[in-house]
Amino acid sequence: MRRSAMTKVERESRSQLKPYISWKEFIRATPTLRKQTCGKPNCKCQKGEKHTCLVLTRSHHGRPEQLYVPKESEEMVKEWVKNYHAVKELVEQISSSYWERLRKKG
Ligand SMILES: [Zn+2]
Repeated sequence: MRRSAMTKVERESRSQLKPYISWKEFIRATPTLRKQTCGKPNCKCQKGEKHTCLVLTRSHHGRPEQLYVPKESEEMVKEWVKNYHAVKELVEQISSSYWERLRKKG
């Protein structure tokens, strides 16, 4: 599609997608904060103050998979997940512009 033939929304969505496609990290997964006890007898987690750990889950080729995220990477990985949602949203906007195009012709 020539840029001049694109709708404003499509042009803007494609521009916003560029950094994600070129260099921004993204990951399709659901992050869940899991609470657990470590087993040490005198640890605070035995008194109810449980340890937390970020777990990612995804369905890959129809199978569920999960992955523990190292503590020091938690914030970074949450950002990757946010980026994935942004990519999905932008792709959806572009897709909708073609949907509308076909609908108007019909
Ligand atoms: Zn503990």
